[in-house]
Amino acid sequence: MKYKRILLKLSGEALMGEQQYGIDPNRLIQYAEEIKKIHELGVEIAIVIGGGNIFRGVQSENTGIDRVQGDYMGMLATVINAMALQSALENQKMFTRLMSGLKMEQVCEPFIRRRAIRHMEKGRIVIFGAGLGNPYFTTDSTASLRAIEIEADVVLKGTRVDGVYTSDPEKNPDATKYNTISFQEVYQKGLNVMDLTAFTLCQENNLPIIVFDMNKPGNLKRLIMGEEIGTLIN
Ligand code: UDP
Repeated sequence: MKYKRILLKLSGEALMGEQQYGIDPNRLIQYAEEIKKIHELGVEIAIVIGGGNIFRGVQSENTGIDRVQGDYMGMLATVINAMALQSALENQKMFTRLMSGLKMEQVCEPFIRRRAIRHMEKGRIVIFGAGLGNPYFTTDSTASLRAIEIEADVVLKGTRVDGVYTSDPEKNPDATKYNTISFQEVYQKGLNVMDLTAFTLCQENNLPIIVFDMNKPGNLKRLIMGEEIGTLIN
């Protein structure tokens, strides 16, 4: 096992599956299965989930919704996803705790760093909902900062593409994939891995990021076991 403690970032959009909006129950079950495979290995797992399948702060521009208000709405959207994921994991007999960046005591614990670490040590999967609780941030920045705080070995960014490419592979058929790339090079080439706030946090704290295809069954486990999957940024 290559990684002992990980932070898994899942985008909200990935949860839509084939749908245009909301949560695809099959995708949710599939993700829970993938996570179970690594939980059984004894990996300590923290998860940050996005909210893009429900609401994004930037969407609110030109709709009469104030940007900051929209960002809080986005944070609430991540809580909806986090609660769904929590249930899906518990259905498959994993113990979980949902910690929120916004106070919501009926459904989540507040984020307390030492407590999050303790949960993981006890084998509980910790899900971080409501982002950082601040507008103008993203769930990618949440993933980076929380990963640093809980001393995760790596941020695993699960997406629907299998890594970082020279250009967008969905638009350019000649794009080629990097197996490893440095932070410096990602920055210089302007490659899109995470927003810069999130990216810089990882760079400055020597926290490696792996971008990989979360939708391919078995990928997450192979990655944990040390196989070269996706793109490693370090
Ligand atoms: N958000 C925020 N602060 C945070 C995390 C999230 O304001 O710390 C808001 C922001 O508006 C963002 C939305 O929540 O657009 C949903 O998160 P994100 O877009 O990162 O989700 P993803 O793209 O991963 O689905």
